[in-house]
Amino acid sequence: MTETWTILKVLTWTRDYLAEKGVENSRLESEWLLCEVLGLDRVGLYVNFDKPLTASELAACRALVGRRARREPLQYLLGSQDFCGLDFEVSPGVLIPRHDTETLVQEAVNRCPARAAILDIGVGSGCIAVALAKFCTDAQVYGVDPSLKALELAQRNADRHGVTVTLFQGSLFEPFKGLKFDLIVSNPPYIPTAEIAGLQPEVRDYEPREALDGGPDGLDFYRSIIPAAPSCLEKDGWLLLEVGIGESPEVLKIFEATGLFHELFSANDPGAIERVVGGRKK
Ligand code: GLN
Repeated sequence: MTETWTILKVLTWTRDYLAEKGVENSRLESEWLLCEVLGLDRVGLYVNFDKPLTASELAACRALVGRRARREPLQYLLGSQDFCGLDFEVSPGVLIPRHDTETLVQEAVNRCPARAAILDIGVGSGCIAVALAKFCTDAQVYGVDPSLKALELAQRNADRHGVTVTLFQGSLFEPFKGLKFDLIVSNPPYIPTAEIAGLQPEVRDYEPREALDGGPDGLDFYRSIIPAAPSCLEKDGWLLLEVGIGESPEVLKIFEATGLFHELFSANDPGAIERVVGGRKK
């Protein structure tokens, strides 16, 4: 006799299995995975607890749960992530947007002049660039990334939210010689190389290393971006950068060493971590 797998039974089994594999919040994640497979919202799950899954639903569920048990990030399985109240498509090969990064968007919006030209270096999923285009409605937003996969995803996210972000494939300022921006933002890779091995498996084994690895002390990209930025900034234009935990003092020093910025500042994220460092071109 074949066993009947009702929604409740699948949920309970998945919760315990994922917990055993080290997934925190395994109950909630089980619900999200099952919602995805069945095309239901959470209320839909709750009112159908006794409903059995079909063989094909069960197979789809097994496949997703297996991937999550191997610690593939939930967002890659569900294909989306909220950022700044907007729903972004995410896919393997591109960094998953983090709520920490909303601080960078907030600080940028606060300083964005009218009809600004904005550049996002390393657009990834496009979360920062698209959010800025959405919130600074009269701005022209440009983005650059070395990864074609990232650029394609960023374009889809711009389309999804009905904004224009002009995207270039390249490295840092390379496509923008001779252009000047009012605001330059970036969430560059900033994890020291040796720390990557100790990160949670979801990040270490699945998110793109190029989006994480900031070199031996994590600061390689700041040393490249900060001295090069003034030639692409208008006078009084802002350069705002997300930084990793504890990196703010060193990054401020890199700003100071150029002698080309004033009004240097750092801003905390909601977790009271210094998350954004910025300065204004003299
Ligand atoms: N700008 C993208 C983000 O903030 C990608 C950043 C990155 O890949 N380091 O999510």
